[in-house]
Amino acid sequence: MAMMATNIFQKIIDKQIPAKIAYEDDLCLAFHDINAQAPVHVLIIPKKVIRTHADLTDADEAVMGHIHLIAVKLAKQLGLDAGYRLVINCEEQAGQTVPHLHLHLMGGRAMGWPPG
Ligand code: 5GP
Repeated sequence: MAMMATNIFQKIIDKQIPAKIAYEDDLCLAFHDINAQAPVHVLIIPKKVIRTHADLTDADEAVMGHIHLIAVKLAKQLGLDAGYRLVINCEEQAGQTVPHLHLHLMGGRAMGWPPG
C-alpha cells in the first residue's frame, strides 16, 4: 500500500478522529491499531511530526527513548509477559503507509521470522 498523502495520525493527536487510546502524555500518544495484526497491536507515536525513521535527528533522541520506555510499560500493562515485537516501517518499501513515525507494539501470539 502506498504512503498516505495526509497524516491521519495528526488528526488522532488533535482528537479530530477517534482512536482507542492506550496512553498519552506531552511527548507521545499510544493507541490501538485499527487493523490489528496480533491480539495486542498498539501504535506509539511522537506528538512531533517526524515523517519517517530516516528523518530522525539528534533533537529526537529523547522522544525516541521515551516511546521505547512507554512500550515497556504498555507491554506490561497489556499482559505481554511472554514477549512482544516492536516494528518501525521506514518508507514504502518497508511497508510504511502513514507519514508520521510510529512504533508498532505487537504481542499475544507467536511471531514468525523473517517478517514478510
Ligand atoms: P505502517 O504500515 O505505516 O507501518 O502502519 C500504519 C498502521 O496504522 C497500520 O497498521 C494501520 O492499520 C494503522 N492505521 C491506519 N489508519 C488508522 C486509523 O485511522 N486509526 C488507527 N487506530 N490505526 C490506523
